[in-house]
Amino acid sequence: MSVKSKTFFHFRNPDEEISWDAPLVQHTCTFEVGEAPHKRRCRNKVVVGGPYCYIHRLIQQHLVIKPSTDGHGRGLFAVDPSKPANAIIFAHGKDVAKYEGVTISEDQKDALYGPKESDTGPYALEVGRGANSRIVDAATDRSAASMVNHRVNARTNARFTETGKIKVKEDKNIRNGQEIFVNYGNAYTFHENDNSTNRNKRKF
Ligand SMILES: [Zn+2]
Repeated sequence: MSVKSKTFFHFRNPDEEISWDAPLVQHTCTFEVGEAPHKRRCRNKVVVGGPYCYIHRLIQQHLVIKPSTDGHGRGLFAVDPSKPANAIIFAHGKDVAKYEGVTISEDQKDALYGPKESDTGPYALEVGRGANSRIVDAATDRSAASMVNHRVNARTNARFTETGKIKVKEDKNIRNGQEIFVNYGNAYTFHENDNSTNRNKRKF
């Protein structure tokens, strides 16, 4: 079940006189607890980091959302409390999580964020290429993968695939407690002075 949460996303693009606020969607965790025939859905709520709640994100995905080591809001970390500090949680080439959100059209992107090529949604990722490309926007429906932060290439340990998955780079391993970083593309900028959670540009 999904309802509107009390947490709001704020977007401002003064150049285009665009300004809006929208509540983040609150989901019920999709994990099923127990053994058949007594399985039931977990009842925990999640606003940021779906589709699982904090505990099932940790157990099932080995992911934690907490303040970024780069000092820019929150980030996505690989964590498995059952393993030692330096253990490999995601080995090279492995999938970490899939970028999920709401699929929007190019026209909707223009209306929400602005018409220019540089007017990009802070949580809008272009997935796929050419005729198969689509825009997945996690601004108000904040999947775990959408919390991954940007770094320049040499300092990343993961990348986006054409299907919108975060995958560990071939020459890296992600170890227990490490933050996961991808490169969102050259046009990426971070609006630190904005009071929103703005992070510009989401292309691979
Ligand atoms: Zn759960």
